[in-house]
Amino acid sequence: MSEIKQKTKTRPPIVAVLGHVDHGKTSILDKIRETSVAKSESGGITQHISACQVEFQKRKITFIDTPGHKAFNAMRSHGAKIADIALLIIAADEGVKPQTAEAVKYIQKEKMLCIVVFNKIDKPIANIERAKDQLLEQNIKVEDRQGQVPAIGVSAQTGQGLDDLLDLILLVFDMQEIKSVKSKYAQGIIVESFLDSERGNTALIIIQKGSLKINDYLRTESSSGKIKILENWQNKEIKKAHAGDPVFIIGFENLPRSGEIVLFSSDGVYPKEKAKSLDKKKNKALESDSNKKKLNIILKADTHGTLEAIKQSLQAMDFGEIDLQILYSGIGEISESDIKKASHAKPIIIGFRVKPDLAAKGIMERYSLQFRYYEIIYELLSDLEKAAKKIIKPKLVRIDLGKIKIIAVFASQKDGMVVGGPVLEGCAVKGAKVEIFRDEEKIGQGVIKQLQNKNKETGKVEKGKEAGIYLQTDITIEQGDIFQVYRIGRQ
Ligand code: GDP
Repeated sequence: MSEIKQKTKTRPPIVAVLGHVDHGKTSILDKIRETSVAKSESGGITQHISACQVEFQKRKITFIDTPGHKAFNAMRSHGAKIADIALLIIAADEGVKPQTAEAVKYIQKEKMLCIVVFNKIDKPIANIERAKDQLLEQNIKVEDRQGQVPAIGVSAQTGQGLDDLLDLILLVFDMQEIKSVKSKYAQGIIVESFLDSERGNTALIIIQKGSLKINDYLRTESSSGKIKILENWQNKEIKKAHAGDPVFIIGFENLPRSGEIVLFSSDGVYPKEKAKSLDKKKNKALESDSNKKKLNIILKADTHGTLEAIKQSLQAMDFGEIDLQILYSGIGEISESDIKKASHAKPIIIGFRVKPDLAAKGIMERYSLQFRYYEIIYELLSDLEKAAKKIIKPKLVRIDLGKIKIIAVFASQKDGMVVGGPVLEGCAVKGAKVEIFRDEEKIGQGVIKQLQNKNKETGKVEKGKEAGIYLQTDITIEQGDIFQVYRIGRQ
């Protein structure tokens, strides 16, 4: 064949930033962006930017930084792998900490390429060598510990090493196989989604392949729509976006979830196989959602910053079998209309340094809704955790207690019979249920209403002893019948 294979156009590397809290994830990204998000925040609460893109040596690099690992876990559960490279940020003065170890586990499980970034090397007590040794215990061998994981020292404060880090990211990315990013149909992953009160359902999406433009059709497993607004990560309107870009998209009919795959198409027709697999996922998700119990809340706080901080913490928490749903959130005193928005779902109303007004109190009483007031985020979170645990009803199971052989039938009464015999196994217990067997066949059931041993009323008769039983049943019991005694209890 004479056709010359065209070199596939590459896309920006997508880099996930992971590490222990306070080790400098935000500061590193800030310094790289040459902005100072951290300093401009009110009250020191980090206003989170989940994705950004920088330009270095005329190339783009995309960073994703999501609170907790929940968004990453969500992506994994949707079978989506988003980042090419993980930056494992470790403060050189503190070394490996619990969340570092957690991040390492995640990186290893996902088999991600990793660059270890020792931050805060400007600090006199910074000790990279110790941190490298600690990493050995986590099974991460950096280059000068007979391993292959690249590592670099930086300071987000002075900027030292950051250009080298960007260089390293490009180098590591370029050493991978060049991925085909050209595709007739664009595809992306939802990193974050939220309801913008003015603009509607909004999603932050990383485009994995293809290009998309305004008015393109889109669909995920839980939503569909059309791109009405397309913005870059800085909320600037753009006309087109390409593989590797983080974009904000408005135009979903209902709010998609983070981790979901988005398919785009210019004419509303999607590749059959892809659409089929989304339908499959949708059905599965619906099944598991309907099985999950929900804890509904309405959340109001005094400032935007605290509200965001609480929402982020909730997002990062794992409520196990419970699906925590924030039905409505906002700032300021709790009003009647806040509650009316979702009173049908019996939510817990949560006020963070805000309380309900008189009308709201009235409506809460009318609908018997709970109100909880907090001034400390930690208390709010741990209370919700407790509330979630209460919802999880323990599974009820049958617990076998014992076996009795009936050797005497004393009397028949209007709703049962008085019988007796030795306890062959376990014990007989007053109030317990009984399955009645004759010739190894179950013929009926009953309940032990009264229990005696040696003509004395008792609650329990142990193995080897004689039990006198008044059994409530509609079966006519005969000598030789076997009672299997059991109760229904918590697992
Ligand atoms: P994150 O929780 O991982 O995002 O950490 P932050 O970026 O919020 O940083 C936590 C604290 O460490 C802040 O007070 C930063 O000013 C400080 N910090 C971050 N990077 C450096 C650094 O390179 N040198 C020094 N001395 N302090 C740093």
